[in-house]
Amino acid sequence: MTVRVRFAPSPTGFLHVGGGRTALYNYLFARNNGGTFILRSDDTDEARSTDEFRADILESLRWLGLDWDEGIEAGGPMETYRQSARLSRYQEVVAGLVADGKAYYSFATPEQLDTFRKEAMAAGKSPAYDGSLEPSAADAAARVAAGESATVRFAVPRPGSTVFDDVVRETVTFDHAQVEDFVILRSNGTPTYHLASTVDDVDFGITHVIRGEDLLSSTPKHVLLTEAMGAHRATYVHLSLLMGPDGKKLSKRHGHTAIKAYRDEGYLADAMLNYLALLGWSPGDDDTVIALDEMVKRFDLATVSKNPAIFDTDKLLWMNGVYIREMPAADFVDGVRSLVEVDLGRELAADELDTLGEIAPLVQERAKLLNEVPAQVRFLFGDIEYDETSWNKVMTKDGAAEAVAGATEHLTAVGEWSVEAVEAALRAMLAERELSARKGFQPLRVAISGSSVSPPLFESIAALGRERSLDRLATAASRMV
Ligand code: GLU
Repeated sequence: MTVRVRFAPSPTGFLHVGGGRTALYNYLFARNNGGTFILRSDDTDEARSTDEFRADILESLRWLGLDWDEGIEAGGPMETYRQSARLSRYQEVVAGLVADGKAYYSFATPEQLDTFRKEAMAAGKSPAYDGSLEPSAADAAARVAAGESATVRFAVPRPGSTVFDDVVRETVTFDHAQVEDFVILRSNGTPTYHLASTVDDVDFGITHVIRGEDLLSSTPKHVLLTEAMGAHRATYVHLSLLMGPDGKKLSKRHGHTAIKAYRDEGYLADAMLNYLALLGWSPGDDDTVIALDEMVKRFDLATVSKNPAIFDTDKLLWMNGVYIREMPAADFVDGVRSLVEVDLGRELAADELDTLGEIAPLVQERAKLLNEVPAQVRFLFGDIEYDETSWNKVMTKDGAAEAVAGATEHLTAVGEWSVEAVEAALRAMLAERELSARKGFQPLRVAISGSSVSPPLFESIAALGRERSLDRLATAASRMV
């Protein structure tokens, strides 16, 4: 059997981190088994589907590096992978089910259904609707033929139960007394999610349905529909939902939930992917840092955990720092260059690119996000801007004016301008003025970069150059009096 899996997002929102994890597990399972990874668009909800979300899903998957073999934009043996373009196929399946007596036209109004449920509960019975409010099949056919509108419901066989072996959740049993005769076709002729998803899974030959646990209770409906269509059921794999560190369902309160937001904030796709992989799966050993091709080799659905996975933005940030440090230096400079240019609102000149290249390794060692880099290197490319908090804290202290004056004197005397020469000059200044490194260097940091958080001091001064460094010391000195 050749593995065929699908990722089937609805374009009703930006790709969620939970969706990213589901896509990744589908991808890993397909690649590990030499199977086919399909991208389908569950876009039957016309009112809530937008082109912006459609584009975002594709862009986010591509950004993550999860390429699909078949489906949206990739094409394949099916005519279309968009549910909105398959309406006639769903209607055809429904007509067959009605003809076979496996589904029926339903005329029950919402009020009638509400009363049914209330009465059932009051009588200590299951509130799942069983079709008992409907006319005979012949009457129903006549009413529909006369133009009356009706939904179509699936006739769940009762008594009975549906049992399936979920790869993550093991044996799952649903008593049909609790499963209502669910709507498969709305009165306007559009399919419900249950119908469209199941027909597609059958038609596309999906072997494994890997998706979020929120759909677990839909699965008995899908199994029943699949078998009513005379098809074999897929293997189901329901991934536990993502929680915030407080154990509550992941929401905006915990940080961004859209993949796009992380992309926009300067996270690296590989770090994101690595972090998503660990949300429910452990690659074995203590290897938390693992590349995509290695994940493909080691991925095993049998080891996916059924415990809720905690999405912790602090860990993701840490992971991003690990990946930033591992970037080749030239890639790091390339990665931050455009961010710096956007920040400055202009392109960097050739000599400025050299400066960026000089300071980049020091920034790379410490950065956790690419987007934090422009603020750290801005002082090298524009006019000085003081962070007032840093200024007030550092420049008003005893010894600050002394340090600035001493540094001006010693740096003026430096021969060839280099990191080593700058360091030697500034250490000599400390000794001469009897200042501690903290007292002597913090004011210089603020004078040079505007902030007490900056790349290392000697390298910053060396990269800024003699003239501009001395200029900044003079500007600071005049602001201090
Ligand atoms: N379209 C559904 C969703 O976005 C997923 C359907 C499925 O995987 O069966 O939640």
